Amino acid sequence: MFGRGGPRRSDNSKYYDILGISKNASEDEIKKAYRKAAMKNHPDKGGDPEKFKELGQAYEVLSDPEKKELYDQYGEDALKEGMGGGGSFHNPFDIFESFFGGASFGGGGSSRGRRQKHGEDVVHSLKVSLEDVYNGTTKKLSLSRNILCPKCKGKGSKSGTAGRCFGCKGTGMKITRRQIGLGMIQQMQHVCPDCRGSGEVINERDKCPLCKGNKVSQEKKVLEVHVEKGMQQGQKIVFEGQADEAPDTITGDIVFVLQVKDHPKFRREQDDLYIDHNLSLTEALCGFQFAVKHLDGRQLLIKSNPGEVIKPGQYKAINDEGMPQHNRPFMKGRLYIQFNVDFPDSGFLSPDQCQLLEKVLPQKSSKHVSDMELDDCEETTLHDVNFKEEMRRKQQQQYREAYDEDDDEPSGQRVQCAQQ
Ligand SMILES: [Zn+2]
Ligand SMILES: [Zn+2]
Repeated sequence: MFGRGGPRRSDNSKYYDILGISKNASEDEIKKAYRKAAMKNHPDKGGDPEKFKELGQAYEVLSDPEKKELYDQYGEDALKEGMGGGGSFHNPFDIFESFFGGASFGGGGSSRGRRQKHGEDVVHSLKVSLEDVYNGTTKKLSLSRNILCPKCKGKGSKSGTAGRCFGCKGTGMKITRRQIGLGMIQQMQHVCPDCRGSGEVINERDKCPLCKGNKVSQEKKVLEVHVEKGMQQGQKIVFEGQADEAPDTITGDIVFVLQVKDHPKFRREQDDLYIDHNLSLTEALCGFQFAVKHLDGRQLLIKSNPGEVIKPGQYKAINDEGMPQHNRPFMKGRLYIQFNVDFPDSGFLSPDQCQLLEKVLPQKSSKHVSDMELDDCEETTLHDVNFKEEMRRKQQQQYREAYDEDDDEPSGQRVQCAQQ
């Protein structure tokens, strides 16, 4: 998915490209580039809002030495993490205004009133398998969204103009007054129903035939979501400015949040993988070899070293067979294997076989009980238990008793009775 040595270079050149400057541009050159481009692309002058937003983001990062260093070294993702996960930039109009000392061109302060709103981000969760994040994949997702009507460019009218709403005099809000008592008047403000808050109305005959004056239309869109190797649970993949479009609004982002599904065999912790494997007692003592199908389909041959004995619960690890690291997919974690040992059932060995085994296996420790000592011992019987089940039942009973005590007389009295 990445070109050789690619991800770093391509990740941290975007902002320089947007401003049209080289990576070793001076502070002054960065300022000049932004001034020129932002003036040209300001939406008040008919510029593209998306381009204007990008310019603001690029300037915000490159004009701040700390952010610039982070970006130069690790790219956009590191920056987003540093900005609290979501990568929240400042409003591009605020950046523009602070750059020009609050003065804006044209209508003398009119830009504040016409400032664009920020559209909502649309957040989806994206379910992927562990195989997907091990190998990397591309998911095609079909979405429908609002776009500015292509016929009227979001103006809603054929003429490209709109009249001022009569109902609210162009403010978008209406105030109603209601007498609620002698000399008392309640005043309420609400969105104008005639223009739905836009402050303008379009003459019926001038309405755009395609969107019928609504300014937006629906678009079906297929997004290709690139799930990169080593991405983590909860990681975000952002399509900037791809959410619903609306007039005078900076389009929000579509955000996919990765949900990695549980795998039947592999467990993941950061960059490491874990599997369980059952050995027979013979394998644990005398050696084993088996194959494990990895997440990319390769078969790994796993075998014990000569003379090696595996104990129940023991871990072993294989280097570089864990998960690839995100952004450095050639680096991989470890694959841990935890071994369980299946012992044979009772009655499996005949007395003769036991005698044979005793000759081979380590000496019995019980041999040390002498005949003299045996005479002093009492006989006992070992019973089978389901330990977990019995503990669970005991806990339940204790809980029930504690609960019952609360029900009848106070427990203090009962203790006193018992002591008498
Ligand atoms: Zn109105
Ligand atoms: Zn239209």
